[in-house]
Amino acid sequence: MPFKTLQLSDAVLRGVHAAGYKDPTPIQLRAIPVVLGGGDLIGSAQTGTGKTAAFALPILSRLAAHAHGRGARVLVLEPTRELAAQVETAFRDFARFTDLRAVAVFGGVGYGNQRAELRRGVDIIVATPGRLMDYLKDGTVSLRDISVLVLDEVDRMLDLGFLPVVKDIIGRCPKQRQTLFFSATVPPEIQAVAAFALRQPTRVEVGANRSVSQSVNHAVFPVGFGQKFELLLALLAKENFDSVLVFSRTKHGADKIARRLKAANHSVAVLHANRSQNQRMEALAGFKSGKYEIMVATDIAARGIDVAGVTHVINYDVPENPEDYVHRIGRTGRAQAVGDAFTLVTPEDAGDVRDIERFIGQKIPEMRLEGFDYQAMAPRPPQPPRPQGQRPGTIQPRGGFRRFRSRR
Ligand code: AMP
Repeated sequence: MPFKTLQLSDAVLRGVHAAGYKDPTPIQLRAIPVVLGGGDLIGSAQTGTGKTAAFALPILSRLAAHAHGRGARVLVLEPTRELAAQVETAFRDFARFTDLRAVAVFGGVGYGNQRAELRRGVDIIVATPGRLMDYLKDGTVSLRDISVLVLDEVDRMLDLGFLPVVKDIIGRCPKQRQTLFFSATVPPEIQAVAAFALRQPTRVEVGANRSVSQSVNHAVFPVGFGQKFELLLALLAKENFDSVLVFSRTKHGADKIARRLKAANHSVAVLHANRSQNQRMEALAGFKSGKYEIMVATDIAARGIDVAGVTHVINYDVPENPEDYVHRIGRTGRAQAVGDAFTLVTPEDAGDVRDIERFIGQKIPEMRLEGFDYQAMAPRPPQPPRPQGQRPGTIQPRGGFRRFRSRR
């Protein structure tokens, strides 16, 4: 079914075609009529399914034209600065044949430009909660004209501890409004927020929450702790890649991997929360433009980031949360392109891999790189105990070595 059967406005349809989209994705097919009809919605869809357009297109159709003298009518909350920037760009792209105005509001940059744009009058604000709160407190922004509230990537918003400020922001929006909720997973604590923020929502679920995109080939590569970096280099040398996202569990680890890759003559960008906003934007822009062939990132920084044409995702470290595995490898193979996702697994990681396999409901194929000089898998040196509250078993060996042998 083509986009034109979906009752979007002509101007938005032209924007969709200019963006190069031909047919709607499943979540677009199901969500667009609900949003056009004014209803509340909880959308759960894996990353890369086209959910941004699923809400942006019908919202823009309904807004139609810039409302002079009125406050913003649409507020979209995003967990990270990069996502806020990306979603605002999508709104602008789709709205290019209208006079609607969108602004991105996020921290880490000066207040001047954002404040000037907000004062000029905007229809759509795409914001991270913290910076928006600053503008609400100093009176730069009022939410009294908001008619559509979008909470995007809600699960990550809660992970980042934004719940109190998100609730505060919801409370400042008019009660009479449309609310759209998007979350890759909808665990009970998210249902509780939904119950407080939404009215009789329609649920739109695309695929199983936990499934790995069909277009991704994924595999684990068992390796001894001391050979991880060597194996990464060997994979990079062997694979025919254009752009590779490498995930590290920690910011410090990401810096170290990047340093070593640079020393091996790769062009590398780094994305994590300790870098300045300018460094983060430069890293992302450089990776998107092809200036950097590799980007090393942590989970939080890379969540939801859309880079067309990521050919490989390499999990240098096994993700700590099984959900992050789905998010990470969702960076490749987006919107039907085919991508490869590799995870380096030391014997100590066996428990985490088992958790991921249980979560996604499938075994991840195991591979060895031909021609790589595998040494005996020496165990990782002893680590200090984890702080309380973190999941046990990710550092202490759990007999994973045996498991690799038995599966081979
Ligand atoms: P999202 O899940 O919104 O981050 O979108 C994932 C990627 O799919 C982005 O690069 C979008 O530009 C692209 N995309 C979204 N909808 C479509 C569509 N109907 N046809 C082709 N590409 C799309």
